[in-house]
Amino acid sequence: MNNKNEALETESVTVLMESRSHNEQFARSVAAMFVSRLDPTIDELDDVKTAVSEAVTNAVIHGYDNAEGIIEMKLTLKGDMVTVSIKDEGVGIEDVEKAMEPMYTSKPSRERSGMGFSFMEAFMDSVKVISSPGKGTTVIMTKVFGQPLRFE
Ligand code: ATP
Ligand code: MG
Repeated sequence: MNNKNEALETESVTVLMESRSHNEQFARSVAAMFVSRLDPTIDELDDVKTAVSEAVTNAVIHGYDNAEGIIEMKLTLKGDMVTVSIKDEGVGIEDVEKAMEPMYTSKPSRERSGMGFSFMEAFMDSVKVISSPGKGTTVIMTKVFGQPLRFE
């Protein structure tokens, strides 16, 4: 699909959605459609969908604490690399490093295991979190498609 002699063009799609839990489904479907042009494997598709679900769910339940707000999802494609950024203008995170630790959750309950960021890191190639308390959070994730399988 990518002619190596051509300069790699960047293209992107931005979606603004209300902070509602059912938009998690919407966001993962849009992300899956966007990456489908890279002819992904089922596993690659599942990885992106899971990472998007986790980030959007976090924006809804933590960022906006289930109240009103707008979530922005930007999908960018450059060659075989997809960048997904999910942004909210909610409460923000005071200690990003701690928040990203496996099993850390600020809302311990039966449904919250504190594994959202760990899943994003496991399923994507990179995860970066930019956050300021009171201003909001942006999660930027990248994944290169068509990589040979890694056995660890
Ligand atoms: P799980 O994802 O397993 O249901 P969780 O959402 O608590 O549980 P993570 O997704 O790993 O776990 O997030 C860890 C913590 O980071 C959250 O408990 C919350 O305190 C904070 N956090 C994550 N995303 C946001 C966000 N968009 N805005 C504010 N705080 C966030
Ligand atoms: Mg989570």
